Amino acid sequence: MRYDVVIVGAGPGGSTAALVASKLGLRVLLIDRFQFPRIKPCGGGLTPKTLALMRGLDIDPEPIIRNRCFKVALTNWAGTYLLSNHYGDEALIGVTSREEFDNYLLNEALKHGVDFVKDRVTGIEETPSGVRVKGLSNEYLGSYVIGADGANSVVSRNIGNDRAGEALALMTIAHGGQHADDICLIDMTRIKWGYAWSFPRGRGEYDVGLGSLKWGNYREELRRYVKELSMSEGVIYGHPIPIKPRGRVVSKNVFLVGDAGGFADPTTGEGIFYAMYTGAWAALTIKKSKLTNPTLVYRDLVQPLIRNLRLAYGLSTTVYGLDTLVMSRYLGLTAFSYEGTRRLISRVMSGKSWYVDALKSLVKPSLHVRLLSNKRWF
Ligand SMILES: Cc1cc2nc3c(=O)[nH]c(=O)nc-3n(C[C@H](O)[C@H](O)[C@H](O)COP(=O)(O)OP(=O)(O)OC[C@H]3O[C@@H](n4cnc5c(N)ncnc54)[C@H](O)[C@@H]3O)c2cc1C
Repeated sequence: MRYDVVIVGAGPGGSTAALVASKLGLRVLLIDRFQFPRIKPCGGGLTPKTLALMRGLDIDPEPIIRNRCFKVALTNWAGTYLLSNHYGDEALIGVTSREEFDNYLLNEALKHGVDFVKDRVTGIEETPSGVRVKGLSNEYLGSYVIGADGANSVVSRNIGNDRAGEALALMTIAHGGQHADDICLIDMTRIKWGYAWSFPRGRGEYDVGLGSLKWGNYREELRRYVKELSMSEGVIYGHPIPIKPRGRVVSKNVFLVGDAGGFADPTTGEGIFYAMYTGAWAALTIKKSKLTNPTLVYRDLVQPLIRNLRLAYGLSTTVYGLDTLVMSRYLGLTAFSYEGTRRLISRVMSGKSWYVDALKSLVKPSLHVRLLSNKRWF
């Protein structure tokens, strides 16, 4: 059978694309190398913008939110700073279990008529009329392919991308901790060029992990952190997080979404929102394919996002390098002591603006204050 769209990978990017495409009346095949539920190393942190996007797509997030952190306690060498949501009542981080979250999204897609196959995709071949997807067990034909197969994407490599630009994150599910359930911890003193986290996810469980822009063997550091939180660790899992959008996010009949396209925030490590967002856009543009060339439309649509994530990469090196390793450590100064910075974080997490606009709003008032308070200007 020939499908309108074959989607490789049933994480948040793939399942969202499948759900939206199917709701728009397209024949959809979703392929994943695992049967669900399956384990996915993740902090399970859902930002307010992720929950807003889910509601906008008619996906009720309530069944998969295990716990809500209304405050985030961020520690660096200069002190501990409390972050909260300045832009609504939503908790700054809703905590989920990725096994449950991904299984829920996949089932939403299946309910809307998506076909699912368990197979490991080994390559794709673009033909004059569409794309042939090669799996270990079978071959699948589609007019279009969405590559949603994560950071190690086969589809991405097949359209000419290399794997440059990835951070490394490790996590475990720990038990026995004592920090309050409505506070998520972020500690920037545990690891260079990144942070450690502890997200309470209810039922006495904590998602504890650490991630860094620079690769290293961080298992021992994670064990130490878990121990200092008076918790006992579970199995430790590791996985890359892309830190830059890939050079090519489309080819003739192929779209990359989520981690496969390098759509993740290198400053925070947030990727679920970007996977769902790009997945939904890819499905929408395919639906519009009869009017115009969908891959060009998709490329234009994700351009602002690509600019935003490139800026976030620059910001991440400033935050983890200049602010954490130099200013907060040796001078006791940090941007996080400034209310405007904390608001900026809340603004971006809430989806009120991309980094570029949020930064402008931060610079403008502070420039204003400087100009007004500087007598030489009058
Ligand atoms: C430790 C860690 C913590 C994180 N914490 C957070 C967080 O708290 N909040 C947040 O928003 N983001 C977080 N992220 C990032 C987030 O997990 C990813 O950005 C997100 O999962 C990307 O979704 P995706 O659908 O693009 O890819 P994935 O979720 O990786 O899904 C890809 C799917 O493709 C399948 N697949 C892969 N290769 C093949 C193949 N060859 N054939 C068939 N199927 C294939 C896989 O089995 C998988 O199901 C974290 C990442 C890590 C590593």
